[in-house]
Amino acid sequence: MSETPPSPLSAPRIIGALAIGAVIGALAWRVAASAGVGIALGVATGALALWLLTRRGRRRRRIAEAPFPEAWRAILEEWVEYYRELGADERARFEREVAIFLDEQTITGPRGAALEDELRVLVAASAVVLAFGRRGYRYPRLRDIVVYDQAFNEEYESKEGANILGMVHAQGPILFSARSLRQGFRGDHDGRNVGYHEFAHVLDFAQGRADGVPAFMPWGAVRPWMDVVHAETQKVERGRSLLRRYAATNEAEFFAVASEEFFERPERMARKHPELYALLAEAYGQDPAELAAAADER
Ligand SMILES: [Zn+2]
Repeated sequence: MSETPPSPLSAPRIIGALAIGAVIGALAWRVAASAGVGIALGVATGALALWLLTRRGRRRRRIAEAPFPEAWRAILEEWVEYYRELGADERARFEREVAIFLDEQTITGPRGAALEDELRVLVAASAVVLAFGRRGYRYPRLRDIVVYDQAFNEEYESKEGANILGMVHAQGPILFSARSLRQGFRGDHDGRNVGYHEFAHVLDFAQGRADGVPAFMPWGAVRPWMDVVHAETQKVERGRSLLRRYAATNEAEFFAVASEEFFERPERMARKHPELYALLAEAYGQDPAELAAAADER
């Protein structure tokens, strides 16, 4: 039995709608000096507020309950190892999150061109993997996501010398190159996945500024995290870390690169750097090494 998505009728929304209805009703009662007018307007406004407040929730529920397209399932099965490792219930939950992400986010080719499903599903899967341990977390709908055919340059042109594989600004679109997006999911366990990298930045930005402190990280873990970041950065600079050199750029890149390793080669990180692994597991609310080990046993 797989769980259904929560009802959009949460207590805060009901209370909010009641409060709006009560305020408008009381005002109308006073202005029109008529209890009938006040009650009627109050009830109408309250009902409208409830309808508006639950609109997104109702839409998500509809999307989640619709059958997941077979073509998308085939893409997940072919490309996304994390998805293959999940049990049946969790797979269904993963699919629902992918469907909601694709419904809510704008993912296109350059200049709004239509994009093939394979790339759209890989973008969604990248985002869903990172947030999968945080039930109910939804990415803000603030950014367009644009997938280029090839690497692009600072001007977002795919020409000679272009070497950017993915990019995310504090504001503005999230950019990927199709080639590196596919390479990230190729299953070669090279510790590189541009999808994970960029969505790690998105989570970092989501708290206001990109300071390399993982989203969701409990306050008590921030200090040990910064200690690990600084100690490990020195090892990266000496070429003696399991993280690649780019992690030493700054704290935000450290988090993004460490996240790639955490999801691409979790067992290796858990073995070679248990402290870094434990802090990321706490931030992401999940244990991908255990997931991989459990999948091996099945
Ligand atoms: Zn980066």
